[in-house]
Amino acid sequence: SKVKDMSSEVVDSNPYSRLMALQRMGIVENYERIREFSVAIVGVGGVGSVAAEMLTRCGIGRLLLYDYDKVELANMNRLFFRPEQVGMTKTDAAVQTLADINPDVVLEEINVWTISFNILRQKLLGGERRAYKCTRRYRFSSFTLNITTVQGFETFMSSLRNKSFRPSKEGSGVDLVLSCVDNYEARMAVNQACNELNQTWMESGVSEDAVSGHIQLLIPGETACFACAPPLVVASGVDERTLKREGVCAASLPTTMGVVAGLLVQNTLKYLLKFGQVSSYLGYNSLKDYFPTMAMKPNPQCSNAACLERQKECILAKPARDAAAKAK
Ligand code: ATP
Repeated sequence: SKVKDMSSEVVDSNPYSRLMALQRMGIVENYERIREFSVAIVGVGGVGSVAAEMLTRCGIGRLLLYDYDKVELANMNRLFFRPEQVGMTKTDAAVQTLADINPDVVLEEINVWTISFNILRQKLLGGERRAYKCTRRYRFSSFTLNITTVQGFETFMSSLRNKSFRPSKEGSGVDLVLSCVDNYEARMAVNQACNELNQTWMESGVSEDAVSGHIQLLIPGETACFACAPPLVVASGVDERTLKREGVCAASLPTTMGVVAGLLVQNTLKYLLKFGQVSSYLGYNSLKDYFPTMAMKPNPQCSNAACLERQKECILAKPARDAAAKAK
């Protein structure tokens, strides 16, 4: 009589059925749309690699990964990378793992060779670029991309503009950019690219002492850009590099980075699939379990010219937007 009756339980080994249950339960209107979305992740470190894994497991259509670094033994206190991947570029190691988890996702790791290799491939083979697993595609994995260099920034921009995955859609070739880098220059480069392309993006960060973090949604012209409200240390003119003491490394915890990656991907899913309330800014203080939220308006005196252009466009488009909202 103690034997459990399994006959009434639905045993389904397809991971998608668990995701599709979100639709059956009325949380998401159309979960299948996840396959149509394309997300760029800049920085495949403690936050970015975990965010990439979460999106892959959620069945995202396409991921573009950018990083200039290699996997080190020192990264093993975080999630995702494994000791046998030490020495590989982070993008290569990520593609290796992610393609195994979900071969349906189109993964693109961007390095300096990618663009020319894709053009060459297209010329040789002709026709459309197909969606394929790219683990064997990038033989030049030791070349990585720093988005703050002139060539790196150009490659970054042209890869975001590439619309081969979503030719019928407006805007750039991606639906969202996630910034998971750990320094001001790289964040400013993402900010510049997204302001120029009118591309919505989300920023994330974890503090030097590893016990707090944040995520932020940035819509060019509509919300504050990264230059509208720079971090206090930057606004006060202190060089970020002088804060780092020689031989003293920043602290890091897999817990805080995992939480921030989770908050970032949850906001991404809400934004893409249009459910719940998308957070403008969400902080996380692990010492007090405090989650501050706020919204930031753009700064009319912002130092970024592209941001000012987007602000002007937003003001001009406001009456039409208000009328459309009223008509609903
Ligand atoms: P640590 O600094 O503690 O050794 P980390 O360098 O892995 O760790 P994380 O915060 O875990 O830093 O991740 C940030 C990621 O962003 C890193 O993988 C780093 O290589 C990447 N990154 C930072 N700046 C750039 C840039 N300009 N271009 C491309 N990737 C960048």
